Amino acid sequence: MAILVTGGAGYIGSHTCVELLNDGYQVIVVDDFSNSNPESLKRVEQITGKQLKTYPIDLLNQIDLEKVFKENKIEAVIHFAGLKSVGESVAVPLKYYRNNVISTLILCEVMRKHRVKNLVFSSSATVYGATDKMPVSEDAFLKPVNPYGRTKHLIEELLRDLYQSDKEWSITLLRYFNPIGAHESGNIGEDPNGIPNNLLPYISQVAVGKLQRLNIFGDDYPTKDGTGIRDYIHVVDLAKGHLKALEKITSITGVETYNLGTGRGYSVLEMIDAFENASGKKIPYTVVDRREGDSAICYANPNKAREHLKWQASRDIHLMSKDAWRWQQKNPKGYQEIVDPRQTGVY
Ligand code: NAD
Ligand code: UDP
Repeated sequence: MAILVTGGAGYIGSHTCVELLNDGYQVIVVDDFSNSNPESLKRVEQITGKQLKTYPIDLLNQIDLEKVFKENKIEAVIHFAGLKSVGESVAVPLKYYRNNVISTLILCEVMRKHRVKNLVFSSSATVYGATDKMPVSEDAFLKPVNPYGRTKHLIEELLRDLYQSDKEWSITLLRYFNPIGAHESGNIGEDPNGIPNNLLPYISQVAVGKLQRLNIFGDDYPTKDGTGIRDYIHVVDLAKGHLKALEKITSITGVETYNLGTGRGYSVLEMIDAFENASGKKIPYTVVDRREGDSAICYANPNKAREHLKWQASRDIHLMSKDAWRWQQKNPKGYQEIVDPRQTGVY
């Protein structure tokens, strides 16, 4: 079965491509590499010993996208492509609405034209916004607090309307919690541009000596140690969740939403501790003010995915930290070519 993976060169997409290829799917990737490197796809092929087909195109370009559907017998789409930085979405909201919402609209139009009506969409726990009721379930009230989250919410609504208009569609909305870690080979992983916004990539860049110290955003939250609590999930567990969703959508129609999280929350200090144990490195930190827009606690109720998709996360924070560290050590510059320091005098 041929699966189109949009954003397949990215962090979660590349890990999902590995699982798809290992499971015998044919994989076609569309990615404009605006936030990724083609090297990730070469590594996916090395890990699996299998080939995938790549189209280096922007989803906003409908003519290019049509070509992908004409040239391949696509049966389902996993739609990862999108911009994901909360801070940037506040600064340049139009870029986020165009890239995330309009590209999804174009994708759906092309899918409909080619009678491909199976779709798995990357949503986010961000759609819940500042909710107090934890663990959070899929039926919680949605009130995203930033433009990024609002693009995800809008797309969810768009997809629900699409299904209402045509009951042949089968759509799964996956709300991810906090993906971290890397493939066990250490050959693919998260490769953020510039200084990371997220906790784990920041910690691992401190451990590898690229960054000096971590700023902890507040230690006065109403949590066990005062630092923020999140539901960290191993990216390979997350990737496997997509295969379960795919099995489901190709057998029934409808639109369903699932949380992909572990159901357990860990504080910033607990994550530092786990990473120190995994890496043997000390993570120096300073406590600074809270980050605007952060909630104290967020973790999933993952029961629906367990019951309906027969999926649950199995990798713990120690394995997440070990795998993240292996990737970071093997690839201190991410996918960027390692330049001989004798030639540049830097690094
Ligand atoms: P990523 O940036 O690593 O991957 C996204 C990929 O999409 C990149 O390879 C990028 O080049 C590509 N892309 C972006 N716009 C495109 C366009 N218009 N046309 C073609 N390709 C385009 O991000 P990720 O962490 O792998 O996230 C994947 C999806 O999951 C995103 O939709 C993101 O919003 C969502 N998500 C991520 C997280 C997280 O913490 N990583 C959490 C919740 C949801
Ligand atoms: N955090 C932190 N320092 C950082 C990055 C994050 O203290 O440099 C905290 C943040 O306040 C939150 C947790 O780590 O409590 C997870 O943050 P991340 O940005 O990774 O995920 P999100 O807040 O988007 O769920």
